Amino acid sequence: MSTSYRVAVIGGGPAGLAAAESLSAAGCAVQVIERMPSIGRKLLMAGRGGLNISHSEAPDHLLARYGQAAPWLAPTLAAWTTDDIRVWMAGLGQESFIGSSGRVFPTAMKASPLLRAWLARLQHQGVLLHTRVEWTGWDASGGLTFAPAAGRDVLPDTLPSPFVADAVVLAMGGASWPRLGSNGAWVPLLRSHGVEVEPLVPANCGFRANWSDPLRTRFAGTPLKPVALRFADHTVRGEVVITANGLEGGALYALSAPLRTCLAQQGQAELLLDLRPDLTVDVLATRLANVRPRESLSNRLRKALRLPPVVAALLREAGEVPSAPHALATRLKALPVMLTGPEPIDRAISSAGGVVQAACDARFMVRAMPGVFVAGEMLDWEAPTGGYLLHACLATGRAAAQGALQWLRETRS
Ligand SMILES: Cc1cc2nc3c(=O)[nH]c(=O)nc-3n(C[C@H](O)[C@H](O)[C@H](O)COP(=O)(O)OP(=O)(O)OC[C@H]3O[C@@H](n4cnc5c(N)ncnc54)[C@H](O)[C@@H]3O)c2cc1C
Repeated sequence: MSTSYRVAVIGGGPAGLAAAESLSAAGCAVQVIERMPSIGRKLLMAGRGGLNISHSEAPDHLLARYGQAAPWLAPTLAAWTTDDIRVWMAGLGQESFIGSSGRVFPTAMKASPLLRAWLARLQHQGVLLHTRVEWTGWDASGGLTFAPAAGRDVLPDTLPSPFVADAVVLAMGGASWPRLGSNGAWVPLLRSHGVEVEPLVPANCGFRANWSDPLRTRFAGTPLKPVALRFADHTVRGEVVITANGLEGGALYALSAPLRTCLAQQGQAELLLDLRPDLTVDVLATRLANVRPRESLSNRLRKALRLPPVVAALLREAGEVPSAPHALATRLKALPVMLTGPEPIDRAISSAGGVVQAACDARFMVRAMPGVFVAGEMLDWEAPTGGYLLHACLATGRAAAQGALQWLRETRS
């Protein structure tokens, strides 16, 4: 492809960089615009947890993690699989491994070596990376407009404002952790151009519960592990942590979507905790029956079931604690916790909502704005933690780039 195609990629996160890599490899002159002082801040933050970049489960299981958006994302995820990601990482000198949970991580267990190698490749492919530059929209004739940001006084010489690009990939992320750069400020801007955008709401987030002061003071920070969480017809096994305001942790994150919906409709949502998911009610009851009933609740739970003191406190939060072994066992397998709302979006791992499927064509081009493509967390999909977020951001970044290339060939040759 001729280098005469000028493509602007707005947002220097994984989706934007993936788009820039594909576009520049195909010969486009690509400029990446990032409002923060450096590229990939959220990716680097994800690297603090080891950078869980994908999951090794079977493709149909992986696809199912995207819930209602699975049919939409299916072709994109089939075109950029977990194996493809691992090969791509190896090409950047970053070997990967599959952890015991099936999650995929770089062997280095951090993002910085991957990001360094990736940026070097982009520069080698001629991509211009501009930091401290904020995209502010379009002028009346369709040129992209920018403003200096984060301490910069003037725009780079190579990036006039307005800037007329042949195609644009928008990859500005969602609205979680705004201090890392993605703040959702694009939502009203795109809506004003007739693009339908679902409100950005917290996903993979903690939820509030009205804990008593004793529970909050004594047990905030205490993990519950292993635990199974039940809500409506969903059951998730894993770990949660008691916080001062409620609960958080991987098992709860996986229930974000149905909990959020119920909370929006009813103002509260009853979560059931199974505190010994490996044992049946009958086994629990038999073991409880073998401990003298005059022991304190904490002692009974510890001696019979090796449960920590936090469990007694949680039982008390749920009202009168049954003392008969079978009733107590039943309560331990389905302990109700009333959730009252999600924690704020700025503390969520990711956000749900974004540019809706109907607003895009199959190649992620905004129907209302020919030549404008969207990728990553800006799109209206969500997934639990486990590598699914980065996987879809990388995959949609590439797919939007492929879409832009196809559109340029069709309309500009
Ligand atoms: C603490 C934490 C841990 C995480 N861990 C994992 C994990 O282990 N595995 C996983 O799969 N996911 C993880 N995630 C989620 C993952 O990092 C995100 O889903 C992913 O980074 C989103 O990629 P993106 O490119 O769509 O957006 P982002 O990474 O948010 O990048 C968007 C970029 O656009 C820039 N931008 C926004 N507006 C403008 C503008 N107007 N002009 C110019 N630039 C702009 C932003 O500054 C930002 O750099 C984690 C997230 C957090 C917060």
